[in-house]
Amino acid sequence: MLVNAKAMLDRAKKNKYAIPHFNINNLEWVKYILEECNKMKTPVILGVSEGAIKYMGGYNVVSFMVRSMVVDLNIDIPVCLHLDHGSSFESCKKAIDAGFTSVMIDASKYEIDKNIEITKKVVNYAKKNNVTVEAEIGHIGGTEDDIKNKIGFATIEEAKKLVEETNIDFLAPALGSVHGLYKGKPNLDFNRMKEISELVKLPLVLHGGTGLENEDLKKAIEAGTCKVNINTELQIAWSASVRKYLDENEDVYDPRKIISSGEEAIKNSIRNIINVLHK
Ligand code: 13P
Repeated sequence: MLVNAKAMLDRAKKNKYAIPHFNINNLEWVKYILEECNKMKTPVILGVSEGAIKYMGGYNVVSFMVRSMVVDLNIDIPVCLHLDHGSSFESCKKAIDAGFTSVMIDASKYEIDKNIEITKKVVNYAKKNNVTVEAEIGHIGGTEDDIKNKIGFATIEEAKKLVEETNIDFLAPALGSVHGLYKGKPNLDFNRMKEISELVKLPLVLHGGTGLENEDLKKAIEAGTCKVNINTELQIAWSASVRKYLDENEDVYDPRKIISSGEEAIKNSIRNIINVLHK
């Protein structure tokens, strides 16, 4: 069964660890992530970007695929299906109507009052459907779904205002993190993260989990982060492995063999990440 993210994040906050959010790209990603998290008995959030939803065929395809996989693979950990960076109320509504159990409304490109207005509308609809809501303030840098963004640091005032006025379930304050690969050494503002966490008292989300040192991930958890988003790391692990397999097996053309030649690499990355987030 799919669940929303509330109970798993509240438990993580209370016990100072973080839930992994792994982005999914296709059926195999869903299968490998569910199998490995189930084996490790770790609740998981499957994040899906609008680009990945379009690639897979639509909101309903993703929802039915994930739900069916949970049943057919006998997955018994809590699994949350979450829209990553929903760009509008309409996109969040489509995800909720299709059966997603959690959504992120990312109206961070607007000034704070407009961000709050859109976020409120999403929360209103989501609450009626028992769906949890994540919102963003500041700007996460880097590239995702081929969209480029500059880093912008979230402020304490914006965090306070957005949380007070919207009734969201968890907050992603951008504090120096980047989607994709970091250029140079990551420079996250852990002090502000802690201040925001203590002020808003909600689980915080760290986007741009790929490329952060284990020490930084632990500092983020210490400062109130309860959900860490990972996308690029699994993509890099999978593609390196598939490239090697194809180089060594020039006569193979069965797509099942080619795609699954990256399975162990993905599962290995998942194990390493969970071991850091849960200690
Ligand atoms: P990475 O690109 O660092 O893996 O971040 C993913 C992410 O934050 C998705 O929202």
